[in-house]
Amino acid sequence: MKGWLARGSLRRRLLCAHLLTIAAGAITLLGTTLLFAPSLHDRLMIAWLGPHWSMTADAGMVEMERATNAIFTLAMAQALAISSGVAILVAVMVSLAASRQIAQPLERLLVAAQRIAAGHYRERAPVQGDYELARLAAQFNTMAAALENAEQRRVALIGDVAHELRTPLATIAGYVEGMLDAVVEPDEGTWALVLDEVNRLRRLAGDLQELSRVEAGQVALNTTAVAPSALCAAALARLEPQFTEKGVMLRIHVVPDLPPVSADPDRVLQVLINLLGNALRYTPAGGEVVVQAMKAGDTVQWAVRDTGIGIAAEHLPHLFERFYRVDKARTRATGGAGIGLTICKALVELHGGQIWVESAGLGQGATFFFTLPLFHRYE
Ligand code: ADP
Repeated sequence: MKGWLARGSLRRRLLCAHLLTIAAGAITLLGTTLLFAPSLHDRLMIAWLGPHWSMTADAGMVEMERATNAIFTLAMAQALAISSGVAILVAVMVSLAASRQIAQPLERLLVAAQRIAAGHYRERAPVQGDYELARLAAQFNTMAAALENAEQRRVALIGDVAHELRTPLATIAGYVEGMLDAVVEPDEGTWALVLDEVNRLRRLAGDLQELSRVEAGQVALNTTAVAPSALCAAALARLEPQFTEKGVMLRIHVVPDLPPVSADPDRVLQVLINLLGNALRYTPAGGEVVVQAMKAGDTVQWAVRDTGIGIAAEHLPHLFERFYRVDKARTRATGGAGIGLTICKALVELHGGQIWVESAGLGQGATFFFTLPLFHRYE
């Protein structure tokens, strides 16, 4: 690969580090050998020939001995120098292979990161083996998948919002053009219809803003100890007139002496009102809606049960998704954009609770459950 031994590259650094280690080893080996070899040589000779082997008076013998020692030391140094040279050569080759093994996955990771930064969110790094670099690559791929997911959701959100805006805007444009062309009477009824669409847009903008704040974690919860019965009573007080007007019975059943929950009362009331509002919307006159609250482990569990139109099984897993509506035409007429339950889910999860739905099917009514953690006195 071009520039693989470029200045400052990891391979070059690894190679330099290896070479330095080998050079340090060779120098140490050479130095220590030359330092200790003569005395070791003497000791071995004494052990072999006795302590007086070198105490000869013969000048020729003394000179011979000195020469033998010098040749021995020189031979040793040369052998060591040659073996160090060969060792360095072999080490360079091994080091090149080793540094390639380490640097190559990192280089691939770098390329993948650059491609993702350039917007290619499908890019993944190859994962080979199970050592640290492979685990790093696997973790990198998990992060890339999360980024891809976020990007897909962002694109889908823009598409959904554009779609939601288009219908009311088209309706408003239709009325205004009709009035300009004198095909539609500019009377109170027409303006009321235009106002309906404007209100729909306003509600959508408000819902979207609320959703983005909750999902971004920008909603600060004023958490206190809240009595479940007080929350139910507040929701009842708000919605009872609308239930009476439609002819749907609303009942509250809270298990006596329930412990308080740790919650922001305004936010939980928002969830309860949303669920009750839906129950009222999808329950025909003569039906019934029951709110229950009971202890379940470390939580209090609410259930909002209605005898309304029910929900088919295939829709249940998607109900809390953004803009998901079972029957788009029907809910459009009633004003829903399919964001209410998404906000409820985000709010409940912000409290550390869970939310889910059950329904036996169409015409069988539906029950929405959510839990909130119990209040611990010293939390
Ligand atoms: P919307 O504002 O459209 O009601 P929600 O997020 O509150 O949006 O609800 C999403 C969809 O879930 C609704 O469009 C409706 O089809 C379905 N739904 C919600 N509550 C009920 C219920 N109690 N009974 C039947 N269907 C329901």
